[in-house]
Amino acid sequence: MPCISRRAFFAGAVTLMGALSRPYKIQAQTAKTRLILLGTGGGPRPRKASSASAQVIIRNNTAYVIDCGNGVARQLVLADVPLPTLRHIFITHDHSDHTADYGNLIWLAWTAGMGTRVDTWGPPPLAKMTRLFFEMNAQDINTRIADEGRVPLVPLVHVHELREGGLVLRDDQITVRAALVDHPPVRPAFAYRFDAEDRSIVISGDTARSDHLVTLAEGADVLVHSAVYLPALDRLVARVPNAAALKRSIIAGQTSAEDAGRVAQAAGVKTLVLSHLVPADDPGVTDQMWIDAARIHFRGPVIVGKDLLEV
Ligand SMILES: [Zn+2]
Repeated sequence: MPCISRRAFFAGAVTLMGALSRPYKIQAQTAKTRLILLGTGGGPRPRKASSASAQVIIRNNTAYVIDCGNGVARQLVLADVPLPTLRHIFITHDHSDHTADYGNLIWLAWTAGMGTRVDTWGPPPLAKMTRLFFEMNAQDINTRIADEGRVPLVPLVHVHELREGGLVLRDDQITVRAALVDHPPVRPAFAYRFDAEDRSIVISGDTARSDHLVTLAEGADVLVHSAVYLPALDRLVARVPNAAALKRSIIAGQTSAEDAGRVAQAAGVKTLVLSHLVPADDPGVTDQMWIDAARIHFRGPVIVGKDLLEV
């Protein structure tokens, strides 16, 4: 990520979090397992302020991408993550702000030189989405294989549909577990936990306040939790014709910043990162307001997610 914006963030963090920002900064510089927030806005509507949901965990030059909101390939490039290092994709649930560029990420990483296996994990209909995506784009894929000498793309991709929580993957450097979370009416919806030698990271996906998530996140170093700032919700939905239904859906399926703090405290995580922010671009909701809401119940450091921020 650009040094200037990172420095600017930490300058802001010092103001916002006082002494709490210091140990966090040291941790980010020394950890071998890296977490970069690629997209931190909630909802599929393209915005200037932030990109849609995506995160990447990097260990030993291997990229584990969690969620593929619109622009994820471009965000990886902006974060200086080489696209050919893509190895695993985890989808939390089938909502377009988490899946819009699922196929595009694989396809575009391949055009950037990726020629090795990619495993993808997530709820049904992930296998059908993958198959139809490649069918839809077969003309380009086949042209590039014949014309540019690329390896066949389809055999590189291995899809694993998840229906229940539990162990997802254990490789030589990371263990991934999933838990079912509560994001009606989308079922199943998953949170994922990544345990490496040096740190543990949990990505909540979208969920209402979830006891399963508390269990999954127990003792984790970092919990990235989706968050709604409830006092601003009426302003957000007032912009759209389906205001009543949208408000009902957000309240039923998301977690307030205050409750995200409750979950973080109950799980005993070290650092809480608020992301998938709803509203994503309301200038009336400041970072300090997000932090204050979460810190009603959580006593550790709270980070307000920014695109391309490394945590
Ligand atoms: Zn969702």
